[in-house]
Amino acid sequence: MDIQIDEETLKAVELVRTIGREFLRPLGLEADRTNRPIPPDHPFYELVAKSGYMLQGLGSEGRGSSGSERAPAGGASGGGSRRRGGSRGSALRNVLVAEEGSYWDRGAMVSLPGPGLGGPPVLRMGTEAQRERLLAPFRQRERPVWAAFAMTEPGAGSDVARITTRAVRDADGWVLTGQKMYSSNSPRAEWVVVFATLDPALGRDGHRAFVVERDTPGFEILRVEHKMGLRAYETATFALDGCRLPEESLLGGQEYYEASSQRGFEGAMSSFNATRPIIAAMGVGIARAAYDIAAGTLKEDFAPHAFHRRRRALETLVEVRRRIEVARLMCMRAAWLLDCGMPNALEASMAKLYAPPAALAAVQAAAQVLGEAGVLRDSLVEKLARDVKAMDIVEGTQQIQRRVVSKHVVGVLGPSA
Ligand SMILES: Cc1cc2nc3c(=O)[nH]c(=O)nc-3n(C[C@H](O)[C@H](O)[C@H](O)COP(=O)(O)OP(=O)(O)OC[C@H]3O[C@@H](n4cnc5c(N)ncnc54)[C@H](O)[C@@H]3O)c2cc1C
Repeated sequence: MDIQIDEETLKAVELVRTIGREFLRPLGLEADRTNRPIPPDHPFYELVAKSGYMLQGLGSEGRGSSGSERAPAGGASGGGSRRRGGSRGSALRNVLVAEEGSYWDRGAMVSLPGPGLGGPPVLRMGTEAQRERLLAPFRQRERPVWAAFAMTEPGAGSDVARITTRAVRDADGWVLTGQKMYSSNSPRAEWVVVFATLDPALGRDGHRAFVVERDTPGFEILRVEHKMGLRAYETATFALDGCRLPEESLLGGQEYYEASSQRGFEGAMSSFNATRPIIAAMGVGIARAAYDIAAGTLKEDFAPHAFHRRRRALETLVEVRRRIEVARLMCMRAAWLLDCGMPNALEASMAKLYAPPAALAAVQAAAQVLGEAGVLRDSLVEKLARDVKAMDIVEGTQQIQRRVVSKHVVGVLGPSA
Protein backbone atom coordinates (compact mmCIF):
# COMPACT_ATOMS: atom_id res chain seq x y z
CA MET A 1 0.00 0.00 0.00
CA ASP A 2 1.54 3.27 -1.12
CA ILE A 3 -0.83 6.02 -0.08
CA GLN A 4 0.43 9.42 -1.16
CA ILE A 5 -1.42 12.62 -0.47
CA ASP A 6 -0.87 15.00 -3.36
CA GLU A 7 -0.48 18.76 -3.25
CA GLU A 8 -3.97 19.35 -4.65
CA THR A 9 -5.52 17.28 -1.86
CA LEU A 10 -3.56 19.09 0.83
CA LYS A 11 -4.78 22.40 -0.60
CA ALA A 12 -8.38 21.16 -0.72
CA VAL A 13 -8.21 20.07 2.93
CA GLU A 14 -6.68 23.42 3.87
CA LEU A 15 -9.48 25.27 2.07
CA VAL A 16 -12.11 23.25 3.94
CA ARG A 17 -10.29 23.91 7.21
CA THR A 18 -10.54 27.64 6.61
CA ILE A 19 -14.17 27.43 5.47
CA GLY A 20 -14.88 25.14 8.41
CA ARG A 21 -13.50 27.43 11.08
CA GLU A 22 -15.08 30.58 9.66
CA PHE A 23 -18.39 29.27 8.34
CA LEU A 24 -19.25 25.59 8.80
CA ARG A 25 -19.00 25.56 12.60
CA PRO A 26 -20.91 28.82 13.22
CA LEU A 27 -23.55 28.12 10.55
CA GLY A 28 -24.00 24.56 11.79
CA LEU A 29 -24.52 25.79 15.35
CA GLU A 30 -26.99 28.41 14.15
CA ALA A 31 -28.97 25.83 12.13
CA ASP A 32 -29.05 23.57 15.17
CA ARG A 33 -30.23 26.36 17.48
CA THR A 34 -32.96 27.59 15.12
CA ASN A 35 -33.83 24.11 13.81
CA ARG A 36 -33.61 25.46 10.25
CA PRO A 37 -31.32 24.38 7.41
CA ILE A 38 -28.91 26.94 6.00
CA PRO A 39 -31.00 28.64 3.28
CA PRO A 40 -29.86 27.93 -0.30
CA ASP A 41 -29.53 31.66 -1.01
CA HIS A 42 -27.12 32.20 1.89
CA PRO A 43 -24.19 34.31 0.61
CA PHE A 44 -21.79 31.72 2.05
CA TYR A 45 -22.79 29.27 -0.68
CA GLU A 46 -21.88 31.81 -3.36
CA LEU A 47 -18.43 32.07 -1.82
CA VAL A 48 -18.17 28.29 -1.87
CA ALA A 49 -19.21 28.17 -5.55
CA LYS A 50 -16.61 30.82 -6.43
CA SER A 51 -13.90 28.89 -4.60
CA GLY A 52 -14.31 25.99 -7.06
CA TYR A 53 -15.38 23.66 -4.26
CA MET A 54 -18.21 22.20 -6.38
CA LEU A 55 -15.59 20.42 -8.51
CA GLN A 56 -14.69 18.44 -5.42
CA GLY A 57 -15.40 14.77 -6.00
CA LEU A 58 -15.45 15.01 -9.77
CA GLY A 59 -11.71 14.41 -10.17
CA SER A 60 -10.66 14.70 -13.79
CA GLU A 61 -14.38 14.78 -14.65
CA GLY A 62 -14.52 18.14 -13.02
CA ARG A 63 -12.19 19.48 -15.63
CA GLY A 64 -14.13 17.95 -18.45
CA SER A 65 -12.08 14.90 -19.43
CA SER A 66 -13.87 11.70 -20.32
CA GLY A 67 -12.67 9.58 -17.36
CA SER A 68 -14.04 6.52 -19.12
CA GLU A 69 -11.19 4.21 -18.17
CA ARG A 70 -12.30 0.65 -17.51
CA ALA A 71 -11.38 -0.94 -14.21
CA PRO A 72 -11.84 -4.33 -12.58
CA ALA A 73 -15.14 -5.13 -10.88
CA GLY A 74 -15.73 -3.66 -7.44
CA GLY A 75 -15.84 -6.93 -5.49
CA ALA A 76 -18.91 -9.04 -4.94
CA SER A 77 -21.25 -6.09 -4.94
CA GLY A 78 -19.80 -4.40 -7.96
CA GLY A 79 -19.78 -7.19 -10.54
CA GLY A 80 -19.17 -6.49 -14.20
CA SER A 81 -16.78 -3.90 -15.49
CA ARG A 82 -17.28 -0.33 -14.41
CA ARG A 83 -16.05 3.07 -15.31
CA ARG A 84 -13.60 4.64 -12.99
CA GLY A 85 -15.00 8.04 -12.18
CA GLY A 86 -12.63 10.81 -11.26
CA SER A 87 -8.87 11.01 -11.42
CA ARG A 88 -6.30 9.08 -9.43
CA GLY A 89 -6.37 10.57 -5.98
CA SER A 90 -9.92 11.92 -6.09
CA ALA A 91 -11.44 9.28 -3.79
CA LEU A 92 -8.71 9.89 -1.23
CA ARG A 93 -9.28 13.63 -1.57
CA ASN A 94 -13.03 13.18 -1.04
CA VAL A 95 -12.41 11.21 2.13
CA LEU A 96 -9.95 13.68 3.62
CA VAL A 97 -12.09 16.69 2.70
CA ALA A 98 -15.21 15.02 4.16
CA GLU A 99 -13.33 14.30 7.38
CA GLU A 100 -12.07 17.85 7.74
CA GLY A 101 -15.44 19.43 6.95
CA SER A 102 -17.20 17.16 9.43
CA TYR A 103 -14.70 18.08 12.10
CA TRP A 104 -16.18 21.57 11.93
CA ASP A 105 -19.80 20.58 11.29
CA ARG A 106 -21.03 17.49 9.52
CA GLY A 107 -24.48 18.96 8.79
CA ALA A 108 -23.11 22.16 7.26
CA MET A 109 -20.55 20.10 5.34
CA VAL A 110 -23.28 17.99 3.70
CA SER A 111 -25.23 21.14 2.89
CA LEU A 112 -22.41 22.44 0.70
CA PRO A 113 -23.24 22.82 -2.99
CA GLY A 114 -21.96 20.07 -5.26
CA PRO A 115 -23.15 16.78 -6.75
CA GLY A 116 -23.08 15.10 -3.32
CA LEU A 117 -24.30 11.50 -3.26
CA GLY A 118 -25.66 12.03 -6.80
CA GLY A 119 -22.12 12.32 -8.16
CA PRO A 120 -20.86 8.71 -7.82
CA PRO A 121 -23.72 7.06 -9.78
CA VAL A 122 -23.40 9.61 -12.58
CA LEU A 123 -19.63 9.14 -12.71
CA ARG A 124 -19.80 5.37 -12.48
CA MET A 125 -22.92 4.57 -14.52
CA GLY A 126 -23.52 7.57 -16.78
CA THR A 127 -22.65 7.80 -20.46
CA GLU A 128 -20.08 10.36 -21.50
CA ALA A 129 -22.85 12.67 -22.77
CA GLN A 130 -24.73 12.38 -19.46
CA ARG A 131 -21.64 13.08 -17.40
CA GLU A 132 -20.88 16.08 -19.56
CA ARG A 133 -24.41 17.50 -19.30
CA LEU A 134 -25.16 16.72 -15.66
CA LEU A 135 -21.80 17.75 -14.24
CA ALA A 136 -21.46 20.94 -16.31
CA PRO A 137 -23.37 23.09 -13.75
CA PHE A 138 -20.74 22.17 -11.14
CA ARG A 139 -17.87 23.37 -13.30
CA GLN A 140 -19.11 26.96 -13.41
CA ARG A 141 -18.22 29.06 -10.40
CA GLU A 142 -21.00 31.62 -10.55
CA ARG A 143 -23.82 30.11 -8.51
CA PRO A 144 -24.23 27.27 -6.05
CA VAL A 145 -25.79 24.09 -7.46
CA TRP A 146 -26.83 20.91 -5.66
CA ALA A 147 -27.70 17.35 -6.71
CA ALA A 148 -29.10 14.46 -4.69
CA PHE A 149 -29.52 10.70 -4.55
CA ALA A 150 -32.71 8.77 -3.82
CA MET A 151 -32.81 5.05 -3.19
CA THR A 152 -34.61 4.75 0.17
CA GLU A 153 -38.40 4.34 0.19
CA PRO A 154 -40.96 3.91 2.97
CA GLY A 155 -40.80 0.12 2.42
CA ALA A 156 -37.17 -0.23 1.31
CA GLY A 157 -34.19 1.01 3.30
CA SER A 158 -31.53 -1.55 4.07
CA ASP A 159 -32.97 -4.01 1.58
CA VAL A 160 -32.78 -1.90 -1.55
CA ALA A 161 -33.95 -4.83 -3.68
CA ARG A 162 -37.43 -4.07 -2.35
CA ILE A 163 -37.87 -0.68 -3.97
CA THR A 164 -41.27 -0.25 -5.61
CA THR A 165 -40.94 3.09 -7.42
CA ARG A 166 -42.05 2.00 -10.86
CA ALA A 167 -40.43 2.86 -14.18
CA VAL A 168 -42.60 2.21 -17.23
CA ARG A 169 -41.26 2.67 -20.72
CA ASP A 170 -43.42 3.90 -23.58
CA ALA A 171 -42.90 5.37 -27.05
CA ASP A 172 -41.87 8.80 -25.65
CA GLY A 173 -39.49 7.69 -22.91
CA TRP A 174 -40.18 6.75 -19.29
CA VAL A 175 -42.84 7.36 -16.65
CA LEU A 176 -41.83 7.17 -12.96
CA THR A 177 -44.31 6.69 -10.14
CA GLY A 178 -43.56 6.22 -6.46
CA GLN A 179 -42.21 7.83 -3.33
CA LYS A 180 -38.68 8.32 -2.02
CA MET A 181 -37.68 9.29 1.49
CA TYR A 182 -34.67 10.57 3.44
CA SER A 183 -33.15 12.07 0.30
CA SER A 184 -30.54 14.58 1.46
CA ASN A 185 -30.43 17.99 -0.22
CA SER A 186 -33.24 16.97 -2.63
CA PRO A 187 -35.37 20.11 -1.99
CA ARG A 188 -32.57 22.29 -3.41
CA ALA A 189 -31.22 19.85 -6.00
CA GLU A 190 -30.99 20.67 -9.70
CA TRP A 191 -31.35 16.94 -10.37
CA VAL A 192 -31.80 13.77 -8.35
CA VAL A 193 -30.54 10.27 -9.23
CA VAL A 194 -33.59 8.09 -8.59
CA PHE A 195 -33.45 4.31 -8.48
CA ALA A 196 -36.65 2.68 -9.73
CA THR A 197 -37.75 -0.78 -10.83
CA LEU A 198 -39.26 -2.14 -14.02
CA ASP A 199 -41.27 -4.51 -11.84
CA PRO A 200 -40.93 -5.06 -8.06
CA ALA A 201 -41.31 -8.81 -8.66
CA LEU A 202 -37.97 -8.78 -10.51
CA GLY A 203 -36.05 -7.79 -7.36
CA ARG A 204 -32.46 -6.78 -8.16
CA ASP A 205 -32.95 -7.57 -11.86
CA GLY A 206 -35.47 -4.77 -12.26
CA HIS A 207 -33.37 -1.85 -11.04
CA ARG A 208 -32.81 1.16 -13.29
CA ALA A 209 -31.30 4.54 -12.40
CA PHE A 210 -32.80 7.78 -13.70
CA VAL A 211 -31.97 11.43 -13.48
CA VAL A 212 -35.01 13.47 -12.50
CA GLU A 213 -34.62 17.19 -13.05
CA ARG A 214 -36.04 19.64 -10.57
CA ASP A 215 -38.83 21.08 -12.76
CA THR A 216 -40.19 17.75 -13.95
CA PRO A 217 -44.00 17.80 -13.54
CA GLY A 218 -45.04 15.27 -10.87
CA PHE A 219 -41.83 15.68 -8.85
CA GLU A 220 -42.95 17.15 -5.53
CA ILE A 221 -41.24 17.53 -2.17
CA LEU A 222 -43.77 16.25 0.37
CA ARG A 223 -41.95 16.66 3.67
CA VAL A 224 -38.67 17.82 5.14
CA GLU A 225 -37.79 15.68 8.15
CA HIS A 226 -37.05 17.10 11.61
CA LYS A 227 -33.80 15.38 12.50
CA MET A 228 -32.36 15.03 16.01
CA GLY A 229 -29.09 16.46 14.66
CA LEU A 230 -27.49 17.47 11.36
CA ARG A 231 -30.03 20.23 10.98
CA ALA A 232 -28.01 22.36 8.56
CA TYR A 233 -29.22 20.36 5.54
CA GLU A 234 -32.60 19.07 4.46
CA THR A 235 -33.49 15.40 4.31
CA ALA A 236 -36.79 15.01 2.50
CA THR A 237 -39.55 12.73 1.26
CA PHE A 238 -40.68 13.36 -2.31
CA ALA A 239 -43.31 12.04 -4.69
CA LEU A 240 -42.88 10.99 -8.29
CA ASP A 241 -46.39 11.23 -9.58
CA GLY A 242 -46.30 9.99 -13.16
CA CYS A 243 -43.09 11.89 -13.90
CA ARG A 244 -42.51 11.79 -17.63
CA LEU A 245 -38.82 11.54 -18.46
CA PRO A 246 -37.01 11.53 -21.79
CA GLU A 247 -35.11 8.42 -22.90
CA GLU A 248 -31.79 10.16 -22.10
CA SER A 249 -32.69 10.30 -18.42
CA LEU A 250 -31.93 6.56 -18.07
CA LEU A 251 -28.47 6.59 -16.49
CA GLY A 252 -26.01 4.69 -18.68
CA GLY A 253 -28.52 4.24 -21.51
CA GLN A 254 -30.15 0.91 -22.46
CA GLU A 255 -26.86 -0.76 -23.35
CA TYR A 256 -25.54 -0.30 -19.81
CA TYR A 257 -28.22 -2.65 -18.48
CA GLU A 258 -27.70 -5.24 -21.21
CA ALA A 259 -24.30 -6.28 -19.79
CA SER A 260 -25.92 -8.29 -16.97
CA SER A 261 -29.38 -8.73 -15.47
CA GLN A 262 -28.41 -7.01 -12.21
CA ARG A 263 -26.48 -4.13 -13.73
CA GLY A 264 -28.71 -1.43 -12.21
CA PHE A 265 -28.43 -2.92 -8.72
CA GLU A 266 -24.69 -3.37 -9.17
CA GLY A 267 -24.38 0.26 -10.23
CA ALA A 268 -25.96 1.32 -6.93
CA MET A 269 -23.69 -1.01 -4.96
CA SER A 270 -20.62 0.24 -6.77
CA SER A 271 -21.64 3.81 -5.91
CA PHE A 272 -21.79 2.74 -2.26
CA ASN A 273 -18.18 1.57 -2.57
CA ALA A 274 -17.32 5.21 -3.28
CA THR A 275 -19.65 6.81 -0.73
CA ARG A 276 -19.24 4.50 2.29
CA PRO A 277 -15.62 5.54 2.94
CA ILE A 278 -16.77 9.17 2.73
CA ILE A 279 -19.52 8.70 5.31
CA ALA A 280 -17.09 6.75 7.50
CA ALA A 281 -14.59 9.61 7.21
CA MET A 282 -17.29 12.04 8.29
CA GLY A 283 -17.56 9.93 11.44
CA VAL A 284 -13.80 10.34 11.89
CA GLY A 285 -14.22 14.12 11.63
CA ILE A 286 -16.89 14.12 14.35
CA ALA A 287 -14.69 11.86 16.50
CA ARG A 288 -11.74 14.24 16.15
CA ALA A 289 -13.92 17.18 17.20
CA ALA A 290 -15.04 15.31 20.33
CA TYR A 291 -11.50 14.17 21.08
CA ASP A 292 -10.13 17.72 20.85
CA ILE A 293 -12.75 19.00 23.27
CA ALA A 294 -11.97 16.24 25.76
CA ALA A 295 -8.20 16.59 25.44
CA GLY A 296 -8.42 20.38 25.76
CA THR A 297 -10.55 20.08 28.89
CA LEU A 298 -8.20 17.56 30.46
CA LYS A 299 -5.24 19.83 29.85
CA GLU A 300 -6.83 22.91 31.35
CA ASP A 301 -9.52 22.09 33.85
CA PHE A 302 -8.45 19.35 36.16
CA ALA A 303 -7.82 20.17 39.79
CA PRO A 304 -4.90 18.37 41.55
CA HIS A 305 -7.27 16.44 43.83
CA ALA A 306 -8.91 14.85 40.75
CA PHE A 307 -5.75 12.89 39.96
CA HIS A 308 -7.38 9.44 39.74
CA ARG A 309 -10.32 10.67 37.71
CA ARG A 310 -7.88 12.35 35.36
CA ARG A 311 -5.85 9.18 34.94
CA ARG A 312 -8.96 7.17 34.03
CA ALA A 313 -10.02 9.86 31.58
CA LEU A 314 -6.58 9.87 29.97
CA GLU A 315 -6.71 6.11 29.52
CA THR A 316 -10.09 6.43 27.83
CA LEU A 317 -8.82 9.20 25.59
CA VAL A 318 -5.79 7.21 24.50
CA GLU A 319 -8.14 4.42 23.43
CA VAL A 320 -10.35 6.94 21.62
CA ARG A 321 -7.33 8.34 19.80
CA ARG A 322 -6.21 4.85 18.79
CA ARG A 323 -9.62 4.10 17.30
CA ILE A 324 -9.65 7.42 15.45
CA GLU A 325 -6.29 6.61 13.86
CA VAL A 326 -7.44 3.11 12.86
CA ALA A 327 -10.71 4.42 11.42
CA ARG A 328 -8.87 7.10 9.48
CA LEU A 329 -6.47 4.60 7.93
CA MET A 330 -9.35 2.29 7.02
CA CYS A 331 -11.13 5.12 5.20
CA MET A 332 -7.95 6.10 3.40
CA ARG A 333 -7.23 2.54 2.35
CA ALA A 334 -10.74 2.01 0.98
CA ALA A 335 -10.41 5.26 -0.99
CA TRP A 336 -6.90 4.47 -2.17
CA LEU A 337 -8.03 1.10 -3.57
CA LEU A 338 -10.78 2.89 -5.45
CA ASP A 339 -8.31 5.39 -6.86
CA CYS A 340 -6.16 2.48 -8.04
CA GLY A 341 -9.17 0.94 -9.79
CA MET A 342 -9.05 -2.06 -7.48
CA PRO A 343 -11.98 -3.82 -5.75
CA ASN A 344 -12.78 -2.09 -2.46
CA ALA A 345 -16.26 -3.32 -1.45
CA LEU A 346 -14.89 -5.15 1.61
CA GLU A 347 -12.67 -2.26 2.72
CA ALA A 348 -15.47 0.30 2.16
CA SER A 349 -17.85 -1.72 4.33
CA MET A 350 -15.20 -2.36 6.98
CA ALA A 351 -14.46 1.36 7.22
CA LYS A 352 -18.19 2.09 7.47
CA LEU A 353 -18.55 -0.65 10.09
CA TYR A 354 -15.66 0.63 12.20
CA ALA A 355 -15.76 4.43 12.08
CA PRO A 356 -19.27 5.31 13.38
CA PRO A 357 -18.97 3.31 16.63
CA ALA A 358 -15.49 4.79 17.11
CA ALA A 359 -17.04 8.24 16.67
CA LEU A 360 -19.84 7.41 19.09
CA ALA A 361 -17.26 6.27 21.66
CA ALA A 362 -15.29 9.49 21.15
CA VAL A 363 -18.37 11.62 21.77
CA GLN A 364 -19.28 9.59 24.86
CA ALA A 365 -15.75 9.95 26.20
CA ALA A 366 -15.89 13.72 25.68
CA ALA A 367 -19.24 13.89 27.48
CA GLN A 368 -17.75 11.91 30.35
CA VAL A 369 -14.74 14.22 30.65
CA LEU A 370 -16.95 17.31 30.62
CA GLY A 371 -19.39 15.87 33.18
CA GLU A 372 -22.58 17.88 33.57
CA ALA A 373 -21.30 20.53 31.17
CA GLY A 374 -21.30 17.92 28.41
CA VAL A 375 -25.07 17.51 28.45
CA LEU A 376 -25.95 21.21 28.49
CA ARG A 377 -27.83 22.36 25.41
CA ASP A 378 -25.17 24.91 24.45
CA SER A 379 -22.33 22.42 24.67
CA LEU A 380 -20.83 21.30 21.37
CA VAL A 381 -20.53 17.78 22.76
CA GLU A 382 -24.29 17.62 23.25
CA LYS A 383 -24.74 18.55 19.58
CA LEU A 384 -22.11 16.05 18.44
CA ALA A 385 -23.96 13.35 20.38
CA ARG A 386 -27.07 14.11 18.31
CA ASP A 387 -25.16 14.46 15.02
CA VAL A 388 -23.17 11.26 15.30
CA LYS A 389 -26.01 8.72 15.38
CA ALA A 390 -26.94 9.12 11.71
CA MET A 391 -23.41 8.11 10.69
CA ASP A 392 -24.35 4.60 11.69
CA ILE A 393 -27.42 4.64 9.44
CA VAL A 394 -26.62 6.51 6.22
CA GLU A 395 -25.20 4.33 3.38
CA GLY A 396 -26.04 1.14 5.27
CA THR A 397 -26.39 0.38 8.96
CA GLN A 398 -23.96 -1.59 11.14
CA GLN A 399 -25.95 -4.78 10.58
CA ILE A 400 -25.84 -4.36 6.82
CA GLN A 401 -22.08 -3.73 6.81
CA ARG A 402 -21.60 -6.86 8.94
CA ARG A 403 -23.49 -8.85 6.33
CA VAL A 404 -21.30 -7.49 3.54
CA VAL A 405 -18.09 -8.09 5.49
CA SER A 406 -19.01 -11.63 6.49
CA LYS A 407 -19.91 -12.41 2.88
CA HIS A 408 -16.43 -11.33 1.81
CA VAL A 409 -14.33 -12.79 4.62
CA VAL A 410 -16.25 -15.96 5.52
CA GLY A 411 -18.12 -16.46 2.28
CA VAL A 412 -21.49 -16.48 4.05
CA LEU A 413 -24.03 -13.67 4.13
CA GLY A 414 -23.92 -12.40 7.71
CA PRO A 415 -26.51 -12.42 10.50
CA SER A 416 -29.99 -11.48 9.38
CA ALA A 417 -32.76 -9.69 11.24
C1 LIG B 1 -29.69 11.70 7.98
C2 LIG B 1 -30.01 10.69 6.92
C3 LIG B 1 -29.74 10.98 5.59
C4 LIG B 1 -30.05 10.06 4.58
N1 LIG B 1 -29.80 10.38 3.27
C5 LIG B 1 -30.20 9.54 2.29
C6 LIG B 1 -30.08 9.91 0.92
O1 LIG B 1 -29.57 10.98 0.58
N2 LIG B 1 -30.57 9.05 -0.03
C7 LIG B 1 -31.13 7.84 0.29
O2 LIG B 1 -31.54 7.11 -0.59
N3 LIG B 1 -31.26 7.48 1.60
C8 LIG B 1 -30.81 8.29 2.59
N4 LIG B 1 -30.96 7.92 3.92
C9 LIG B 1 -31.61 6.65 4.24
C10 LIG B 1 -30.68 5.60 4.79
O3 LIG B 1 -29.82 5.12 3.78
C11 LIG B 1 -31.58 4.50 5.37
O4 LIG B 1 -32.19 5.03 6.52
C12 LIG B 1 -30.80 3.25 5.73
O5 LIG B 1 -30.43 2.58 4.56
C13 LIG B 1 -31.61 2.30 6.61
O6 LIG B 1 -32.87 2.08 6.07
P1 LIG B 1 -34.20 2.20 6.98
O7 LIG B 1 -34.12 3.51 7.69
O8 LIG B 1 -35.38 1.95 6.12
O9 LIG B 1 -34.07 1.08 8.06
P2 LIG B 1 -34.48 -0.48 7.91
O10 LIG B 1 -33.93 -1.03 6.66
O11 LIG B 1 -35.95 -0.58 8.12
O12 LIG B 1 -33.72 -1.10 9.13
C14 LIG B 1 -34.17 -0.97 10.47
C15 LIG B 1 -33.19 -1.75 11.37
O13 LIG B 1 -33.17 -3.14 10.99
C16 LIG B 1 -31.86 -3.54 10.70
N5 LIG B 1 -31.86 -4.49 9.58
C17 LIG B 1 -32.48 -4.35 8.39
N6 LIG B 1 -32.25 -5.43 7.62
C18 LIG B 1 -31.46 -6.27 8.33
C19 LIG B 1 -30.88 -7.55 8.08
N7 LIG B 1 -31.07 -8.19 6.95
N8 LIG B 1 -30.13 -8.12 9.06
C20 LIG B 1 -29.92 -7.50 10.25
N9 LIG B 1 -30.45 -6.28 10.54
C21 LIG B 1 -31.20 -5.68 9.60
C22 LIG B 1 -31.12 -2.27 10.32
O14 LIG B 1 -29.73 -2.39 10.53
C23 LIG B 1 -31.76 -1.25 11.24
O15 LIG B 1 -31.14 -1.30 12.48
C24 LIG B 1 -30.64 8.81 4.93
C25 LIG B 1 -30.89 8.51 6.27
C26 LIG B 1 -30.57 9.42 7.26
C27 LIG B 1 -30.87 9.07 8.69
